[in-house]
Amino acid sequence: MIAGTSVLERTLRAFNSHHSVASIVVAAGQQDIERVLQIASAFARVVAVVPGGDTRYDSVRNGLNALPADTEVVLVHDAARPLVNGALIDGVIATTLTHGAAVPGTPLSDTVKRASAQGIVRSTIPRNSMHNGEAITGLTAVQTPQGAKIEILRSAYAAFDASQTRIEAIATDEASLIEANGGTVAITPGDTNNIKITRSEDIALAERLLAPRETRTGFGYDVHAFASQESGRTLYLGGVAIPHEVGLEGHSDADVVLHAICDALLGAASLGDIGILFPNTDSAFKDVSSLKLLSAVQSRLTEAGWSIVNIDATAVAEAPKLMPYRDAMLAAISGELGIEVSRVSVKATTSEGMGFVGRREGIACWAVALVQR
Ligand code: MG
Repeated sequence: MIAGTSVLERTLRAFNSHHSVASIVVAAGQQDIERVLQIASAFARVVAVVPGGDTRYDSVRNGLNALPADTEVVLVHDAARPLVNGALIDGVIATTLTHGAAVPGTPLSDTVKRASAQGIVRSTIPRNSMHNGEAITGLTAVQTPQGAKIEILRSAYAAFDASQTRIEAIATDEASLIEANGGTVAITPGDTNNIKITRSEDIALAERLLAPRETRTGFGYDVHAFASQESGRTLYLGGVAIPHEVGLEGHSDADVVLHAICDALLGAASLGDIGILFPNTDSAFKDVSSLKLLSAVQSRLTEAGWSIVNIDATAVAEAPKLMPYRDAMLAAISGELGIEVSRVSVKATTSEGMGFVGRREGIACWAVALVQR
C-alpha cells in the first residue's frame, strides 16, 4: 500500500486512464491471482489476468499470448513502478513507433561496480567502451514500460523459444531479447520519480514523491521618489540600469521592482519584509545592488525549504518607457535567482498623469510571488 492505495491499483490507474492504451493484461503469481483479479476488475481496459511463470520471460510470454489480435504496440511494465505517468508512456509509445522498440532511460551518474556476495568489489563497469568499432559513452539505467511493435517482440520471443540459450542468462528485460535478436532499441527519457518499489524504504520514498506540494502566495509593494537632478543617481529597475535624466532616492540602489519582488517572496514564506532584513540604518546596504538583496531573500527562502514557482510584477511609471528593458530585467532577475526566465514576469504601466506617479514624483511597483515546498 502506498498512501492508502495498492501499488498495483496505482499502476493500473496510470495505464487505464491513458488515451493510447487499449488493453491491459496482468500477469500474476498463482498465489496472488485472487487478489489481483479483485483489484483488476475495477479497470475497464484489463482484458485478462494470466498466471505468471517461473521467470519474467515466461510471465511476459503468457501476457503476450493474451493480447487482442489487433494490438500494434505492446508496453511491458513492472507493476512495482506505480509512479509511471502519462508523459512517460507517451514518450515510450512515440519512440517505439519511430524505432520499433524503446526503453525509458536515465543517465547513471554513479560509478557502477560488481561485487561478490561478501561485498568485495570484483570489477568496475567502464563508463566508456568500444562496441563494433563505435565509441560508446554513458551508462544508462533503464526503467519500464519497455515498448515494442508487437511483431518485433513476438519474433524475439520466438527466436529464444527456438534457441538452446538459457533465457535467465540474457532476458532481464524485454529489450535484451530484442537486442539479442538483432533488433534496434532506442532510449527515450526516463523519469527519476518512476521508481521500482523494491525495498521497504521505497514505500516511504514513493509517499514523499506523491505528497502534494504546499504552495503559498505573497504580495509586495514599494515606492521610491525621484532623487534631485544634482544627485547623479542612476535609475535601476528590475536589476537593470536604465538611461534617464534622474534616478530614484533610497538607501540602496532604490530598485522598486526588486524591492516589491523581495517583499512578495518574503511575504509568501512568512519571513518578514525587506525593511526588517535590510534596515536602512545599516551601512552595509548603502547603495547596494538590490540584486544582492534579492539573492539574500532567496537564500532565506531556500533555508526554509521554499522554492519559487513564479513572480509577477507591475511597475507604474510615467517615464521612462520601461518595455524596451523588459527582457533585460527578466534576464537579470531569473539569472540572479537561477530559475527559468518563464517563471518571471515584469509589466509596466503609467498612472495616466494622476497622483504622485502621474506628476513624475516617483515610481511604484506591485508584485506577487508563488512559492512551494
Ligand atoms: Mg524600497
